[in-house]
Amino acid sequence: MTMSTCASSPFDHPKADIILRSADGVDFCVFKLFLTLASPFFETMFELPQPADGTDNDTKDGLPVIPVQEDSKTLDTFLRFCYPSTLAEDPLLESLADILAILGAARKYSLDLIERKVCQALVNPKILEAEPLRCFAIARNARLKHETITAARYTLRQPLIPAWFEEIELITASDLLALLTYHKKCAIAVAPLRADLGWVTNHYGSLNSCKWLVPEVHNPNRPSGGSNDKPTCRCGRSTKLEFILWSSFPVSWWATYMEETFELLRDTPCRDIVKSEAEKTIQKVRGAGCNACSARVKENMEEFSNLLALNVEKATASIELEMPF
Ligand SMILES: [Zn+2]
Repeated sequence: MTMSTCASSPFDHPKADIILRSADGVDFCVFKLFLTLASPFFETMFELPQPADGTDNDTKDGLPVIPVQEDSKTLDTFLRFCYPSTLAEDPLLESLADILAILGAARKYSLDLIERKVCQALVNPKILEAEPLRCFAIARNARLKHETITAARYTLRQPLIPAWFEEIELITASDLLALLTYHKKCAIAVAPLRADLGWVTNHYGSLNSCKWLVPEVHNPNRPSGGSNDKPTCRCGRSTKLEFILWSSFPVSWWATYMEETFELLRDTPCRDIVKSEAEKTIQKVRGAGCNACSARVKENMEEFSNLLALNVEKATASIELEMPF
């Protein structure tokens, strides 16, 4: 006799009519009906002749025992999906290892509904943001088109050449090459936004509507102190020709933001870098102590970085992940 333990509620019901024994020796007492309703695979499995009661080791307490290859954790999760929600709530799939195991079981047992739920878990933004490459590999391995493409977009937040990750073994060299090509093409598509600042001038229309960006030069000889005087910007001006707007030199910290952000966009062509660099610039400008810039930098850089982020997304939106499904 194999040593086995009993699963916890609701898989310990005294009126259950069959036992599924996990690979690690846990017995799940379940109702055939729920499993049959969830998958035609189980229906076929239960129609196979079962050994008569008490004739060999394949029964326990008079119930037939069916050994399965899944471990108890995986079995517990997918049985909860099979059971009606009044008896067992759908389990949360929050780790990629769980998703991978359940996806495998769902496919093996033709549990279509569960497969769909697992796919939804795979494009949960929380998981995608934390582990885009692992999501990509799992989705690609399972030939899930929408999920693979979504995950590929999230991988743009990471450097072109990724660090090793466990699920890399799930994809082929061709899959990885397709992902790297996609990433590189996105980076190339973003580069012209720096070379041609038409999107900036189009958005603001004129120098007058973005004085924060091209402030008047501070003149120490100009009399000040009048009640209408706003503080003038004492930050330097960029002298780089590439950042000239309406024939004027913009404030230097903005040019620095542009240079540093576009340098990063070459490796990570995504909106997140645009937003996080803007956040750093806001802190930096406030710390520098120019009254004119400090007062308005947050509002203006939020607007500007949203504009740049939108343009980065537009530039990369038409790039396709070239991969057969
Ligand atoms: Zn300033």
